[in-house]
This record gives sequence, C-alpha cells and structure tokens, in this order.
Amino acid sequence: MKAIILLGAPGAGKGTLAEGIRSSTDYLHVSTGDMLRAAIKAGSKTGLEAKAYMEKGELVPDGVILRIVGERLAQGNSTDKYMFDGFPRTLEQARQLDETLAKLGASVNQVFLLEVPTPVIVSRLSGRRICKGCGAVYHVTNIPSKVEGVCDQCGGALYQRPDDSEATVLNRLEVYQRQTASLIDFYEKKGILVRINAGTNPQAATAELMSKLA
Ligand code: AMP
Repeated sequence: MKAIILLGAPGAGKGTLAEGIRSSTDYLHVSTGDMLRAAIKAGSKTGLEAKAYMEKGELVPDGVILRIVGERLAQGNSTDKYMFDGFPRTLEQARQLDETLAKLGASVNQVFLLEVPTPVIVSRLSGRRICKGCGAVYHVTNIPSKVEGVCDQCGGALYQRPDDSEATVLNRLEVYQRQTASLIDFYEKKGILVRINAGTNPQAATAELMSKLA
C-alpha cells in the first residue's frame, strides 16, 4: 500500500492538485471535505453531525472523521494507493492514521505541504465559485466562467460554498494555524515532508509535485 497526504491551509489548492494527480496516476483521491459534503447532501447521520461545524469553519470532531476514513479504507482500492486531501487535520487524526496504516503493514510515504501566502489564500477562497451540477471549480477573477454564474461544462448554476464567505474563511485560517499547522513539524521530524510552491498557478504546482512524487 502507498499513502500520500496533501497538507496546506484552506485555499492552498489541495483539491485542484489532487485532481491533477488523480488524472495522471492511479492514486485514489480521498477528500474528507468532499465526503462530508456528500453526507450532508444525502442527509445521513454523519452529515447531520458535521453540518454545524462546517458552516462555522470549525473542524468536525476527530471521531466522525476517523470513522468515515476507516470505512473508506475498509472498502479498499484496486491499486492500493491513497491520496488524502484535507486529512489529517489534527495530531490525533495523524496518530490514528499511522496506527491504522501500521496494522496494514504500511505507513505514510510522503506529505506534500502546499505553501501559499495568506493574502493569496483569502482572495482565492472568497472568489471561489462551484457548479451545483458537476462540481467544477471557478474563480470570479482568476478562472471566470464564460457567462457569469453559469458553468461552462454543464450549464449548471454556480454558487459560493457557505464556508467560503469572508468571515468564515478567516476563521478557517485561524483553525488551520491552531489545529493543523503542527502537523508540519510532525511530518518534518519523520523526514517525509515535501514542500511545494503552490502560490503561483495550479499547473506549475502540479508539475512540481509530480516531479517529487516518489
Ligand atoms: P475542505 O473541503 O477540506 O476545505 O473541508 C471543509 C470543511 O470540512 C472543513 O472546514 C471542516 O469543517 C470539515 N473537514 C474536512 N476534513 C476534515 C478533517 N480531516 N477534520 C476535521 N474537519 C474536517
């Protein structure tokens, strides 16, 4: 088994990079944020547990996250290669992931830290728009759709994620500093942290990551 992690503040481009890697490798993309949004849409118990935290930009409790990741790992994947996006976000999640992988005779292979200056992050998140139909991601100035508010790919309506409003974005960044940034040290000490310049454009960041993927 192989396991890699995309680590970085909200808006660092984890989802975009994950899409680039997924399309040119056989890694399975495991995004806890996407899983939680799907659970909310489906109205499941997990969705109900997660919704209020997500709307405020707070972290969903470790127990909920570890359960959904555990369920996903138990389903397996034909290539046995996993790319975690937005997970782990706390030291507890990181330790539990190590334990789970150890039981499978595996460990985290590489952790890619996507480095982006804070002002770039705030502008990226508050301008982000997503298609209700197909999930395609736009940005009001960086990646505008041809017709404002309408998806180029499927004609669906574009919306702003409730947690991308400016006030929530600032809280999410604070939560990242308080609860997630310590993972940088955790993985650096293990010698598996790889820094990626993700402050320019997604193509350059993806190319840099691909060239460093072992
Ligand atoms: P993301 O799409 O990765 O930005 O995640 C959106 C929101 O989902 C976060 O702001 C958290 O509320 C929640 N979330 C996603 N992944 C995790 C995680 N690993 N631990 C705790 N909360 C999470």
